[in-house]
Amino acid sequence: MTNALITGGAGFIGSHLAEVLLQRGAAVQIIDDLSTGSITNVEHLKGHPNFTYVLDTVMNRRLMMELVDRADEVYHLAAAVGVRLIVEEPVRTIETNIKATELVLELCAKKRKPVLLASTSEVFGKLDKPTFSEQDDLLLGPTSKARWCYAASKIIDEFLAQAYFKEKGLPTIVVRLFNTIGPRQTGQYGMVAPRLVRQALLGEPLTVYGDGSQRRSFTWVGDVVEALLALMQQPNAFGEVFNVGHHQEVSIHELAVLVRDLAGSSSEIVFIPYSEAYEVGFEDIGRRLPDLSKLQRLIGYKPSFELPEMIEQIIAYERRRLGR
Ligand code: UDP
Repeated sequence: MTNALITGGAGFIGSHLAEVLLQRGAAVQIIDDLSTGSITNVEHLKGHPNFTYVLDTVMNRRLMMELVDRADEVYHLAAAVGVRLIVEEPVRTIETNIKATELVLELCAKKRKPVLLASTSEVFGKLDKPTFSEQDDLLLGPTSKARWCYAASKIIDEFLAQAYFKEKGLPTIVVRLFNTIGPRQTGQYGMVAPRLVRQALLGEPLTVYGDGSQRRSFTWVGDVVEALLALMQQPNAFGEVFNVGHHQEVSIHELAVLVRDLAGSSSEIVFIPYSEAYEVGFEDIGRRLPDLSKLQRLIGYKPSFELPEMIEQIIAYERRRLGR
């Protein structure tokens, strides 16, 4: 039986990954400090005989030594996430993202355990291209703007993962996750989809930041999980970086209209200046669309849903939670 360790396993993506691994017969250990994750995300897994969870920080070296020792493979998802959190707490962002990854890689290298590191499409920064490929240059803003510390910390993580592969022969995989959505994602740290859905269901104004012309592509969390699992099984994935995302692009204003329509809501859509939503001088990313050809070639990746189906499922989930 494969034993998988998931750091950040009580988070949005980690909890879905844990669930699928258990369904497929693996033993799963998760570690999470519940900083942005929630124990309710894994409540339904607690009784499973092959599931163990530890509520602690990934920075706890002795504990991590034990967990890595028991694991056959490691999914390192623990990180500071969410643009709002990053802008508000840059020290925590930089320290969590870099120190934790250093430790995970060091411990995995000692025991030669394959490790998949979750990075982010944020690393492309302000790059202005129709699609972003793994080999493209990365274009960040100045260090005076806190937003970019997230990308910068994840870029260091990516360098580290690849350095461990090259220098120490550790099997590492880096995935750049584009905007991922699905049940259990919380809007608390700024993520747009759960925020708009909740606002629509509660009859509150839908908050669109800026003029809403910024574009994103949204990926279903189940597809992300399938991609991570398939990559871990692929020896050719080691030492490589992969985009994981969706080919369909939408403006945030269009997204708000779609959410409102599908929720049957009569909420108004309001435009909030970035300076109010985040901080003065905040720089948003105009558009962001992945080139998925590398992932398609290696694992035959194909997203399973279009955006309206994903939004419908999130609406159904939030309705159950809100009792509406
Ligand atoms: N956004 C918005 N309203 C919200 C939350 C976010 O218009 O209530 C915008 C945000 O400014 C960005 C996009 O939605 O342009 C996606 O934001 P999110 O934080 O989900 O992910 P990002 O792409 O910024 O990492």
